[in-house]
Amino acid sequence: MRPSIARLTAFCCLGLLAPGGVAAQASDGWRIHEMSRPRPEVVAPAIAPMPARPPAGAEVLFDGSSLNRWVGRDGKPAPWKVRDGYFEVLPGSGGIATVDSFGDVQLHLEWAEPTPPKGSSQDRGNSGVFLMGRYELQVLDSYQNDTYPDGQAGSIYGEYPPLYNVSLPPGSWQSYDVIFRRPRFSAQGALLSPARMTVFQNGVPVQNNAELLGPTTWLARLPYAPHPDRLPLELQDHGDLVRFRNI
Ligand code: MG
Repeated sequence: MRPSIARLTAFCCLGLLAPGGVAAQASDGWRIHEMSRPRPEVVAPAIAPMPARPPAGAEVLFDGSSLNRWVGRDGKPAPWKVRDGYFEVLPGSGGIATVDSFGDVQLHLEWAEPTPPKGSSQDRGNSGVFLMGRYELQVLDSYQNDTYPDGQAGSIYGEYPPLYNVSLPPGSWQSYDVIFRRPRFSAQGALLSPARMTVFQNGVPVQNNAELLGPTTWLARLPYAPHPDRLPLELQDHGDLVRFRNI
């Protein structure tokens, strides 16, 4: 007996099928966005003084005053709003990207979730830090807001939940410190070594040298595709008024 269209649709909506019709499976056995995946332990971090000061030699991508090192989706000046030392997503305007391109990086940035909170699950304070425009470190209000663990704050989206949930209440400034190693490709385009990411959120390790499975996206595991050694850093417009500073 053929399954009904309704049943197939329900399966797709639950994320049990990848676009090709093959069940998407993580390398550690969890399907993408699996709601039954164990939740990371909630941990209260000790808060370091913020804003942090950039170390000597750091490229300051946002110093609190101007987005002149960023562009919008159309390549024109970034349209997001700068106010009082931070900038805020302009919903509907699209993501923004750095003018310059980067490969292996150590990255520090600070972000704050809208307050009062609005929405739930993935619709609560969603943004994202896209290393090389392809590999998303999720930004979400994960303070008392359940969602699929591989999509909460500190996750590598659709791949790895954070080791701990160290999210602070909305309105608090939070920090990410990231060590990213870009993937390596041969001259023929074969993957030599995958991307790796280590992340501290509010000083607590949430990703420890995680080996990325490929570019990140919603509901699908994409294979690696060769790309340049340096690409812009991007921030996501997911329609929520997330703020950033000190990048
Ligand atoms: Mg996101």
